[in-house]
Amino acid sequence: MSGGMSFELTEDQQLIRQSVAELAAKFDDHYWMTKDLAHEFPQEFYDAIAGGGWLGMTIPEEYGGHGLGITEATLLAEEVARSGGGMNAASAIHLSIFGMQPVVVFGSDEMKAETLPRIVSGDLHVCFGVTEPTAGLDTSRITTFAKRDGSDYVVNGRKVWISKALESEKILLLTRTTPREESAKPTDGLTLFLTDIDRDHVDIRPITKMGRNAVSSNEVFIDDLRIPAEHRIGEEGKGFSYILHGLNPERMLIAAEALGIGRVALDRAVKYANERVVFDRPIGMNQGIQFPLADSLARLDAAELILRKATWLYDNGKSCGREANMAKYLCADAGFEAADRALQTHGGMGYSEEYNISRFFRESRLMKIAPVSQEMILNFLGSHVLGLPRSY
Ligand SMILES: Cc1cc2nc3c(=O)[nH]c(=O)nc-3n(C[C@H](O)[C@H](O)[C@H](O)COP(=O)(O)OP(=O)(O)OC[C@H]3O[C@@H](n4cnc5c(N)ncnc54)[C@H](O)[C@@H]3O)c2cc1C
Repeated sequence: MSGGMSFELTEDQQLIRQSVAELAAKFDDHYWMTKDLAHEFPQEFYDAIAGGGWLGMTIPEEYGGHGLGITEATLLAEEVARSGGGMNAASAIHLSIFGMQPVVVFGSDEMKAETLPRIVSGDLHVCFGVTEPTAGLDTSRITTFAKRDGSDYVVNGRKVWISKALESEKILLLTRTTPREESAKPTDGLTLFLTDIDRDHVDIRPITKMGRNAVSSNEVFIDDLRIPAEHRIGEEGKGFSYILHGLNPERMLIAAEALGIGRVALDRAVKYANERVVFDRPIGMNQGIQFPLADSLARLDAAELILRKATWLYDNGKSCGREANMAKYLCADAGFEAADRALQTHGGMGYSEEYNISRFFRESRLMKIAPVSQEMILNFLGSHVLGLPRSY
């Protein structure tokens, strides 16, 4: 057989899909609805995923992981979301699955030995601190500053939207170590750390938000936080390039989560459209209901194909920027559209919390904004792929 792309999953990959689906199915709609409404971290689900060894999927074997690729990670992410856990489930484990990549690739041996086995066991929760209120998507504008002081750095600044900060022991923290004006390039002079969240110097306040409420997102105020130099990842000033390294896989993971929500929403819509009788016929007999669902099926399947291509390229060491960005864009769009149509199919019941469709609707909307907006994806495709003038 040639080494070219195949549309067939390997036996191992099929087994991963099936095993994760079986495990996730133990957590039903009621579980997720309750956690979401109570704003409570899904610890039981997290423990079950950790217990199955799944958190270590992409962590190298020498640190207790399975050393698998992004293809396998996206299968896991899709099944977790598709189980009905949606973004509550996916976000609870997202960072453990691929977020430690900067540490795996650029971290010191001591840092890897200390943290990676604890990620695999589920014992260590980490959050990712990039976004700031005054910088927005222009990461080069962040101002959280790490000032060198002997063998330490002293950090001051403010982050926003940091998911899971409340539950985390450590933070992957992007800071400035050289002011933007003094750096050769705007993205130079940024430094990445993996450090402890010392609550005496870090104030964390949850943001009231539209959905995905089982996992907090927070404002983080950092006041004279001392970070030992050993907590720095790689070289000073190169933090942005370390983050860039993980950007494409992150887009693929998000794409898979969006796809999973779209699939579960569509399944629920089909079931309801077959069962609900109005005007003496199942509503699914009306083309006004049936066509949008059929259209969503086509869009989800097509979006999945570009995702599969992207993960294959990445796992085979080929460049995948174009495909990873497209996958995130198309899956986020198809996933949200499917959820919106599922809501319409359910009529008034779609708007109630009882059928969970409103939860899928709220959660699928998120992937059009975070971790990168649809507009920024189009900016990338427009300028980097099509060669149009850069607008940002
Ligand atoms: C629930 C949730 C969880 C999150 N979790 C994390 C996390 O754990 N860690 C973290 O660091 N961040 C996190 N984020 C932040 C997220 O990554 C940002 O919200 C996202 O990158 C968008 O940035 P912004 O909100 O600052 O939007 P802005 O940069 O203010 O942009 C606002 C709007 O303007 C558009 N826009 C801006 N500039 C341009 C341009 N040049 N061309 C076209 N359109 C443009 C954007 O696309 C967007 O629609 C989270 C956000 C949410 C909502």
